[in-house]
Amino acid sequence: MIELLCLLLPLAFYSGWRSANRQSKLPQEQEKPVPARFVRGINFLLNEEPDKALDLFLNAPSWDAQTADTFLALGKLFRNRGEVNRALRVHQYVIARPELSTRERQAAMLALGEDFFAAGLLDRAENVFREFMRHYPKNTQACEPLRHIYEQLQEWEKAIELAACGIEDKVERNKLLAHYLCEQAEDALDAKQLYQVEETLKKALAIQPKLARIQVLYAELALARGERQAALQYFKKAIEYDARLTSTLTKRFLEVFQQSYEAQQLQTFLRHEYARQPDPHLFPALLALSQTGGEASTVEPLVKTHLQQGNLSLQSVARAAEWQAQQAPQDEPLHSLHVALARLVKSQPRFQCVSCGYKMQDYLWRCPACHRWETVHHL
Ligand SMILES: [Zn+2]
Repeated sequence: MIELLCLLLPLAFYSGWRSANRQSKLPQEQEKPVPARFVRGINFLLNEEPDKALDLFLNAPSWDAQTADTFLALGKLFRNRGEVNRALRVHQYVIARPELSTRERQAAMLALGEDFFAAGLLDRAENVFREFMRHYPKNTQACEPLRHIYEQLQEWEKAIELAACGIEDKVERNKLLAHYLCEQAEDALDAKQLYQVEETLKKALAIQPKLARIQVLYAELALARGERQAALQYFKKAIEYDARLTSTLTKRFLEVFQQSYEAQQLQTFLRHEYARQPDPHLFPALLALSQTGGEASTVEPLVKTHLQQGNLSLQSVARAAEWQAQQAPQDEPLHSLHVALARLVKSQPRFQCVSCGYKMQDYLWRCPACHRWETVHHL
């Protein structure tokens, strides 16, 4: 990385110096102080003293179009290396130049906003992006970073206002808007504003009828109103729409539906889903509900068939081994195998973002690394 820095910083300086020479047509002897500054800057970089090199090059009086681009690239390089203060210094310097073209000024403002965002100074980043939108209302490049700020701050009303900005694809726009509404509904649910939850979910459902998250929230709303049967139906629909939710929802099922007839209903539903689509990720949930459902005689053939003929995942095998170890508490080798598999499951991420590759243990609607929605899948 230092090699790139060694290249970019002197390049920005050299570009401006060459431009100044062209314009003023200085006699050769008057060019001498400039190379001296150049050589001193290179020496600072070689001695790994980038701040001194920055001081030297940023104080150079000359400037041209290439200088701006090179300094912008340099600032981005600093930010990507986590050196946000240096990135801010470079971008603030660029913005202060009166010679900038509109394109360069826009690029510098966006870069400065990104620097503040990376530094965690969200209010300052918001100000920069808002100012960008005021100055350049036809340019939508600030919409996405602004949305990221409001997502981070959980200011969903402001995020909703920007949900359509700069997104051409209608499907993507609707997905984003529906999730923002779901976030609002979750906040209202936490605040026990149940009427507000229902109204918000209605809007989300009209935009994205097959979004499983809406069904989960309807289920939680029904539970808050004491309508357990309705909640059960909503949860079932959520799994029908999106099987990725099964493991997360099973924990909730086991917590909420403790009556055996409720567990029985869910077990029947999951058995049907599993027969329809033998997804190994459904098996741990099916086993847990089969045990709770009280029909012990059905569990053994379920485990046996899964291990011998079913599609397997690490989680499904570990769960089957756990059940077998419970049936034979004296079997030390089986118990050791179950413990080893359980350790392996704990150490392995189960989900991954298909957009950026970030791995995680639990399903999340929004990737915490690249901030995209619904890009997380089973590994
Ligand atoms: Zn991602």
